[in-house]
Amino acid sequence: MGKLVIVGTMAFDAIETPFGKTDKILGGAATFIGLAASHFKIDTAAVSVVGGDFPQEYLNLLSKRNINLDGVEIVKEGKTFFWSGRYHNDMNSRDTLVTELNTLADFNPIVPKDYRDASVVMLGNLHPIVQSSVLDQMTKKPDLVILDTMNFWMDTALNDLHNVIKRVDVITINDEEARQLTGEYSLVIAARKIQEMGPQYVVIKKGEHGALLFNDDNVFYAPALPLEEVFDPTGAGDTFAGGFAGYIARTNDTSFENMKNAIIYGSTLASFCVEKFGTERMVNLSGDEVHKRLLEFKQLTQFEIELG
Ligand code: AMP
Repeated sequence: MGKLVIVGTMAFDAIETPFGKTDKILGGAATFIGLAASHFKIDTAAVSVVGGDFPQEYLNLLSKRNINLDGVEIVKEGKTFFWSGRYHNDMNSRDTLVTELNTLADFNPIVPKDYRDASVVMLGNLHPIVQSSVLDQMTKKPDLVILDTMNFWMDTALNDLHNVIKRVDVITINDEEARQLTGEYSLVIAARKIQEMGPQYVVIKKGEHGALLFNDDNVFYAPALPLEEVFDPTGAGDTFAGGFAGYIARTNDTSFENMKNAIIYGSTLASFCVEKFGTERMVNLSGDEVHKRLLEFKQLTQFEIELG
């Protein structure tokens, strides 16, 4: 069983979906990744920054899940990163209304000493220079480095993003972002171009249409579980990444075959995330519920066909 380091935002989010609207609630990439990864009961540390306005109860929520928070800097006089978004009617696309970096603007991440030899590093969506700086601090080459990013960093720090992309093994990115990064409409060609940028493995997330894993000529596709209730997709991508990273750290196996299972775990956890606003569904999610849904997933995708 490996050790996992997560870096990403801890945030206040204000979200609008066709089903309702929230004031500032708990969000952030590291939060969602941590909640998902905690299901694998591995030694995990989060590296992030918050302001003095970040409630202690939010931090407690993560430490109760055995996530080490020594690498979470609290800037007492600063304000926490704030993001606000509005989803379109199809819930697959959204507009960012506000991104206030606040304490994130000067964030200098410090990986706790005991975690600098972690086997898996999950670089959540953050400034690419911050993501690189986490890799610089590792004393041993991790077995797997996974990077998640978004259009915001392509628009504002593309060169830095290319520099960090070169250093990672797996990139998780959504379909529109893969197209933006490569200028290619075909996701197959986009995935190939991204592999040429560095990562051997490319995961393209397609929201309610599932996720694709590419590695050389190998492709694997996992659908998203068809759900009765989709309330708020915020954090689904991070939850997926947390499930993926957690499963790899738990199993210590970075083969393509094992990554398929990691994708299924990621998709399963993400299917819960969207059922309620923000982190609400994830904070109370039990192992039994996850197990049950994994079985549903298996049924959904299994078939027997006689091929002559
Ligand atoms: P997802 O829906 O998985 O893309 O992740 C949504 C989360 O990402 C929200 O909780 C936001 O706080 C966080 N987020 C939004 N924009 C950024 C950004 N530019 N950098 C880092 N995190 C962000």
